[in-house]
Amino acid sequence: MKILLKNANIYGGQTEDILIEDGIIAGIGSFESADEIHDMSGYVSVLPGVIDAHMHIVTGDIEYNDRALRAWAQAGVTTVRDLGMGNDRNDHPTQEFLAYRDTIEVPECAHCLTAGRFVAQWQGLNHVMSDGAETGYGCKTPEDAVSAVNELIDIGCEGIKTSIGRGMGGGQIPMETEKLKAIADAAKARGVWVTCHILDAEFVPALLEAGMPEFAHMPTDHVSDELLQAMASAGVTCTPTLMSINAPRPPLPKGAKLPPMPGGPGGPPPMMKDPQEQEDICVDNVRRFVEFGGTVAVGTDTMRMESQPHVACMPVRELQLLHKAGLSVPQVIDAATITAAKLCKVDDQVGSITIGKQANIIAVKSEIDETFEALSHVEFVMNRGTVIKGE
Ligand SMILES: [Zn+2]
Repeated sequence: MKILLKNANIYGGQTEDILIEDGIIAGIGSFESADEIHDMSGYVSVLPGVIDAHMHIVTGDIEYNDRALRAWAQAGVTTVRDLGMGNDRNDHPTQEFLAYRDTIEVPECAHCLTAGRFVAQWQGLNHVMSDGAETGYGCKTPEDAVSAVNELIDIGCEGIKTSIGRGMGGGQIPMETEKLKAIADAAKARGVWVTCHILDAEFVPALLEAGMPEFAHMPTDHVSDELLQAMASAGVTCTPTLMSINAPRPPLPKGAKLPPMPGGPGGPPPMMKDPQEQEDICVDNVRRFVEFGGTVAVGTDTMRMESQPHVACMPVRELQLLHKAGLSVPQVIDAATITAAKLCKVDDQVGSITIGKQANIIAVKSEIDETFEALSHVEFVMNRGTVIKGE
């Protein structure tokens, strides 16, 4: 099956015809015939499908994930990466999600990469929730952590998520550097991505010492120039998830309860800081990190719990905040496409309009400016070589 996108104004490039054969980009240039032809001249910009490199899958309610993955694809977000199952419980193991995921490898759904369960410190952050349910592997020793990493990869997870922190109440013991290093090394040995949740500047040295290649979030307290420079020279990539810091929380649906928080059983209530102040500090950290040559990718920390229904959509707010942090508009688009693809180790398949890659292609009818509003209504979506929106 040959599909031709005629007169495509490729973002950052030229007007070309894009030939797609069996879901793969087969040619960029000038072509005449195909089984299906779409005239793209009415679109201002044609660009690769967007990647959200930090979201959380919900376990247990399979149908809910299905709806979200469809909503993402319709919005032009064709790849998402789950960094730890948001509300995992022992009765819904990672294997159950992986089996379900195999059934939704269709163009109508965003492709979902997953870390499965968190590899967590024993009784630490993301091991147990405030209601006592386990959300991750609780690792007592570095050996425990290595076997958790290998188990997750063996069952089909694409990468590893771990966490360092004291939990919402501040009472938990943070992961030791030795264990973090064991996790990073085990993941690297298997050739998969590995990322660590971090919100506190005090843990940056431990992550650097452990050789953690990616930071999930950027600390929301001030990080010194010295540390940001060390992160940049170590080649660390961050998904700062700026939009999650001061996100308007949608009202709870009738009868819904707030989800348990990752503070561990009986932990004291979290210290509330001013979220706008935290956002400003974090934007400033990202700004200086990028100035030192650091790399950032788009992620949202969307947690799609039924009781906390962040919407699966184009992360326009994140794009705006990255621009506020000093990235140019094209740099922000890169952070949402090719940089995120590299981070998720899928840049051989997605993230750019390149011959040999999957045809995940979106198009907009208005100019992409520093508001990124054009991307809030993507008019054309081709996912895995099938047009699922527009004509
Ligand atoms: Zn997260």
